[in-house]
Order: sequence, then structure tokens, then C-alpha cells
Amino acid sequence: MSPTPVEARLKARIATEGPISVADYMAEANAHYYATRDPFGVEGDFITAPEISQMFGELIGIWLADLWQRAGAPGTARYVELGPGRGTLAEDALRAMRGAGLAPPVELVETSPLLRAAQAERLSARWHDDLSTIPVSGPLLVVANEFFDALPVRQYEGERELLVSYDGGFVRDGIVESETSPAALAIVGDLARRICAQGGAALIVDYGHDRPGTGDTLQAVSNHLYADPFEAPGERDLTAHVDFHALASAARAEGARICGPAPQGAWLNAMGIKLRAASLAKAAPERGTEIAAARARLTAADQMGRLFKVMALVAPSWPEPGGF
Ligand code: SAH
Repeated sequence: MSPTPVEARLKARIATEGPISVADYMAEANAHYYATRDPFGVEGDFITAPEISQMFGELIGIWLADLWQRAGAPGTARYVELGPGRGTLAEDALRAMRGAGLAPPVELVETSPLLRAAQAERLSARWHDDLSTIPVSGPLLVVANEFFDALPVRQYEGERELLVSYDGGFVRDGIVESETSPAALAIVGDLARRICAQGGAALIVDYGHDRPGTGDTLQAVSNHLYADPFEAPGERDLTAHVDFHALASAARAEGARICGPAPQGAWLNAMGIKLRAASLAKAAPERGTEIAAARARLTAADQMGRLFKVMALVAPSWPEPGGF
């Protein structure tokens, strides 16, 4: 196989700087990956919940609108999404929110120019490289689905951080005993600080564990199949399990109230996915089987229902959210 552009760049970097951290390797690989393709769907590398069914984004929109209404319907609220992919979740959520009388300005945090262009075809929004340019006034209604799992992780054997070198291929120099994502902790801390100061809430949905200490979770997916994360960097999606326990601690330290993590299936059931599926099937009887299959895929324990988790960060001055 001829070297990928990222492979060539990482090789050159290691040759001059010496071995690099797993986090640097992952960051460089994913930046290229998301900048050069739309990876979602049957034709792509993987499918995410909003691409399975409109019900996912709609129920998130209803969750946000309900909370906003009970907080006194502040007119200055903004919708913020981290890593919006194709913009499907935002489109579905915003439609459901409009039904509840909420039509906030839309602020999208997205680094991929290609995905920004895809989002711009469906949404009228402003784009940001990170949270620092999101306005500091008005409550924030934040959503992040499968965003945190794409952020770089550092890996350790005991106290020693593992490094990646190049020797005909990329090689990690030890056995992973633990993993942390300083990037994820920094972002969640920032979000919590903003929400506490401005009001609002954040809903984080991702696959992961609710207790730390699971060792190596770095994985690559290509064409819907698991692949070697140290092969073809930049051509495969690299993710790691989200450590919800660590995210919750970082958010709590900034003063946010934490709800969950709840299994995605339980959360969607509590939000009324059964009723939503029934009303969609009633409006389009020919799609009944497809809608039932999508609901099962999102909620069943042996599909996305248990591995994926939903966690909320809420401003202490805001009401108790639904679904937990
Ligand atoms: N939420 C979407 C897409 C998930 S994939 C869905 O559920 O379908 C991860 C998304 O995060 C992509 O849009 C990717 O371009 C974006 N992303 C990855 N790393 C990022 C970073 N460091 N900053 C901002 N966006 C990032």
C-alpha cells in the first residue's frame, strides 16, 4: 500500500522529533480523516444515531425545548452543537424545537471544512473552531453526539506515557494500562463553566463507560469493520471510549449539575420514542417496518441502547431535565 499523506507527515515528524504521543498521532490522523470525507452512512465508514432516524434528533430537540420552557423561555438562548457531522441532528432538533416555540440562533463547532460545507447546505448557522468564540451572553443549549469519542487520548503503562515510533509501520512502545483524554476534560470543563455562568444545559451522547480503568479502548473503523488503529492513519476513523466518570467530575468541579449517564435506550424510552415512532408510522404506514427497526437499533441493549450513554450538564439555576 502506498503511504497515506498523514503517514508521510507523521513519519517525517517522528524522524525529526522522535516518537510522539498516542494523542498526537490520533489528533493528526482524525484531522485529516474528517477534513477529507463524509464518513457517515451505509456507503461510508460508520452510521451514527441521527443518521439512523429523525426520532433521535427530534427527541433531543424536545428535551432542550422542554427544559428551556421550564426555565422561563429566555429569548436569548442559543443552540450550540459540537461536531455536527452532516447537520442531521441539528436539523431534526431545530424542527422539533420550533414546534415548541423555540427558534434560537445556531452556533456550530466544527473543524472540518468539508463537513462545514455539508452543514451549510442544511442549516443557517455560524461556525466556530472551538468554544472560545461562542458568545458569552445568553443561555447555551448544547448538544454533542459522538464528538468526545473522536478527541485524542493519552495512554499509559503504569506512570509512563506510551509513544508511537515508526519502523516500517507505526508501533506503540508498550501495553496500555490506562487512558485519559485531556482534550475532552478541557472542553467539558469549559462547557460547564459557560453553562453555569450563562445558564442552559449540555447533552452529551457517546459510547463509553461510566467507571474508569478499562485500559486500551483506542479503535479504528473502516467500512463498518474494526481495523488496526496504527495502520493507514488519516484513512480510518479513530475513536476511544468516553470516560463519563471523568467528564462528570470535571464538569462538577466547575459547578454544573450532572444527570446520568443513562443508557441511550433508557433515555430514549423515557423521552417517548415509542409514541414518536407510532405517530411517524401512522403518518407513513408504508414505512412502519423501517421505523420499528430504527427504534430497535437505537434502543435495544444488544445494539446501541446500552453501550451508548446520555449525560447532561445543567446550570444549577435551571430546572431538572427530563429523561433521566
Ligand atoms: N455528531 C455527528 C458527527 C459525529 S463524528 C453525528 O452524530 O452524526 C465527529 C464530528 O466531530 C465530525 O463532525 C468531526 O468533523 C467533528 N470533530 C472531530 N474532532 C473535532 C474537534 N477537535 N473540534 C471540532 N470538531 C471536531
